[in-house]
Amino acid sequence: ANEEDTPIAEFLKGQVNIATEYRGEIKPSDFEEYKSKNGFEAFIKCLKELSPDQIISQIEESGLKGRGGAGFPSFIKWNLVKNAKADKKYIICNGDEGDPGAFMDRMLLESYPFRVIEGIMIAAYAVGASEGRLYIRAEYPLAVTRIKEGLEILKKEGFIGDNILGSDFSFDLQVFEGAGAFVCGEETALIASIEGKRGIPELRPPYPAEKGLWEKPTLINNTETLSLVPFIIRKGAESFKEIGTDNSKGTKVFALAGKIKRGGLIEVPMGITIKQIVEEIGGGIAEGKKFKAVQIGGPSGGCIPANMSDTAIDFDSLKEVGAMMGSGGLIVLDESDCMVDIAHYFLSFTQEESCGRCTFCRIGTRRMLEILDKIKSGKGKLSDLDLLEQLAINTQKGSICGLGKTAPNPVLSTLKYFRHEYEAHIKGECPAGKCESLIRYE
Ligand code: SF4
Repeated sequence: ANEEDTPIAEFLKGQVNIATEYRGEIKPSDFEEYKSKNGFEAFIKCLKELSPDQIISQIEESGLKGRGGAGFPSFIKWNLVKNAKADKKYIICNGDEGDPGAFMDRMLLESYPFRVIEGIMIAAYAVGASEGRLYIRAEYPLAVTRIKEGLEILKKEGFIGDNILGSDFSFDLQVFEGAGAFVCGEETALIASIEGKRGIPELRPPYPAEKGLWEKPTLINNTETLSLVPFIIRKGAESFKEIGTDNSKGTKVFALAGKIKRGGLIEVPMGITIKQIVEEIGGGIAEGKKFKAVQIGGPSGGCIPANMSDTAIDFDSLKEVGAMMGSGGLIVLDESDCMVDIAHYFLSFTQEESCGRCTFCRIGTRRMLEILDKIKSGKGKLSDLDLLEQLAINTQKGSICGLGKTAPNPVLSTLKYFRHEYEAHIKGECPAGKCESLIRYE
């Protein structure tokens, strides 16, 4: 067969590789190979030619927004840390990833360790950070090993340490292994975890950019965000912003999983539609079944039904349909998936991962789960749906961090687009034939 017609070629077609540049062409731990493929060109350009302000201007010009979920313009955080007055500043790369179905950070750290480190070093230089932590889950041993190996090589080569490459810039970077609490992905909980405290989010302000790790100004960026930085500096902001949509520039990495023929880590231009990802990259639904929905953004995101698969993947379009980008989980669902069960699954995950500080996140989600249990077992009433909705809204309003604020999203989006499935359960039927414990009225 023509190579262009192979499933792998189909999978790669339509992808744009920036965070995953030279995909499949470089061995992850080979420093010389990384350098031969433009590796560290951007960092050296920063050291030799660009001032911190010029670097941050490039980031602003590029339109880069944080890929961790919130989509906050990166340059604002960078400027805040750069302008903060302090004797010491830190940078943290947030590689804490725990959403069901997500493996973006894992793959980036395992496959592109030098690119992630280069992005961290550029950001550290721009904001004036002299020390950094790379927060990686201990459940990702290969990622930890590859990053640690990379750091050892970089120390020997003079890229990390005092007076890097003969410049005034000194920087040390260490790996911190997280213990697997989902809530530690939240910035203030992550900082507490590094400081040896219990990982519980704090009320903000003050923001980490003003008072972060050990009370010093701290820049925290997600792994993917930092992986995009070397390209922006090397090729210029224009090259990045010409990809994507008006308000969402560049690419987004997704962990494409679920009932899809071809799953895996993908990097796509912002603005691509859900349909293009499912049909063209993923090859459609596996086993000839019917496409039902996608759950985007993991437990913080929402579901989008198949009949809305023309929705573009960018920050604004997803918000308009009641979903959110999240950090990049993309789970494809088919006709055999029960949407009440899906909502129950994601909510039970966030309920278990709640740190317990806020009443609505701790107890509201528990009450919501009880209602979902009732509905799933055919004992629900129509009035339960209103109660479920009200609890979901109150949990969003009454939680202080992103975990609680977004935990109700899978419930609210399935109630919005698949209310008929909830009503069918109340009548004793699971349209997907999944909830076997339903009392059936024959
Ligand atoms: Fe903890 Fe939930 Fe409150 Fe976040 S919203 S601080 S996870 S209780």
